[in-house]
Amino acid sequence: MLKTDRLCLHAADKGIRIRCQRLDPRTILLEGTSDGLKFLGNLLLAQAEGRISCHTHLSPRGPGSDLFAPGSTIGLYLHKVPCAHTRRKANGPKPRS
Ligand SMILES: [Zn+2]
Repeated sequence: MLKTDRLCLHAADKGIRIRCQRLDPRTILLEGTSDGLKFLGNLLLAQAEGRISCHTHLSPRGPGSDLFAPGSTIGLYLHKVPCAHTRRKANGPKPRS
């Protein structure tokens, strides 16, 4: 299991909830308790250090929905570059034509 997945499961078990809303066209609100903001920080660190997956996707209406407080209207998509998928394509076998 990925560290990011373990962090999400642990946070959900602890009842941690974050609020994620668009405040205006240029600003996103990420709101939570001290534990909630620590969870987000640790999630960012785990994504930065992870070597298997280049992304983590959490959505109030999809994966990770247990982690969102009521009123959350948008999700989070963390993506580390360079993209693992692009690297695999660049280094992997060439597709058959
Ligand atoms: Zn990627």
